[in-house]
Amino acid sequence: MYDKRSATFHRDHVSLSTVDGRVECDYILPDDSETPPAKYVSDEDFEFRMAHLQYRDGDWYLHTSMRKVEEDEASSESESKHRTVLGVDLGVNNLAVASTGQFWSADEFNHWRREYENRRGSLQRCGSRHAHENIEIVGRKEYGRFEIHLHTVANEIIEEAVENNCSHIVFEDLTYIRKNIPEATWQHVWAFRRLYEYVEYKAEEHGVKVVQVDPRNTSKRCSRCGFTHDDNRSGETFGCQKCGYENHADYNASKNIGLQYLRRRQNAGDGGAPVDVRLNRGTLNVSGEYVPPASTQA
Ligand SMILES: [Zn+2]
Repeated sequence: MYDKRSATFHRDHVSLSTVDGRVECDYILPDDSETPPAKYVSDEDFEFRMAHLQYRDGDWYLHTSMRKVEEDEASSESESKHRTVLGVDLGVNNLAVASTGQFWSADEFNHWRREYENRRGSLQRCGSRHAHENIEIVGRKEYGRFEIHLHTVANEIIEEAVENNCSHIVFEDLTYIRKNIPEATWQHVWAFRRLYEYVEYKAEEHGVKVVQVDPRNTSKRCSRCGFTHDDNRSGETFGCQKCGYENHADYNASKNIGLQYLRRRQNAGDGGAPVDVRLNRGTLNVSGEYVPPASTQA
């Protein structure tokens, strides 16, 4: 997976950062200039965004997303457009929970993770060079399975955002994820980062932006009244000590993650673009008011 930091895109070649340093590769484009690769790659009106390098049948393919450079990109019009966000909470019991009430269980992932640890444990006890090689093979195979699973989850999160007309998908900032989710193993941390990368990479094709917010208090705060307290959360259950709101703790957190972005936007003082958090029915605005879906308002 490449972005502008790990690759430099030119009109006729690309410079990719690899474990062996930078590698320069020429593109092999179709002769027909009307085919999308030939057309967009040479067109200065289009810029490279992200790319996915794939090895297939002995050849390397660079799948890249390109975007038309808009002249009025910085204009206030696009900034003041109404935004609807999908908040996503990441966790060890549920890999992801969206503010629409959609859950992606971590059962499958946790099962594989434990299997992998067990197999690695028994191979390590053998201790031989052969065993060491086996560990690597098992590792690579498991990683492959994890990755396919994470791709599926990423696609479904994007689908959820598109179906609900969301302009943004909001995740918690993953920088301090180990501190924020103390029970997360290194595999979980790896999975969260991967999932985020996949969503960020693929959302672009659908015109959906992916952003991160400060995750502080998102699990302790009441998404209805804003009251923040350690006692609000007990395992998977959230119960507000002030207003009595009760719901699944991860669902409450996903709404707070969406709300966190709303607040940040409001404090940015850029003319106050309206932002809503998409819920399973209707939306939540920055004052915490629930707005029912348009179809039932009449
Ligand atoms: Zn409350």
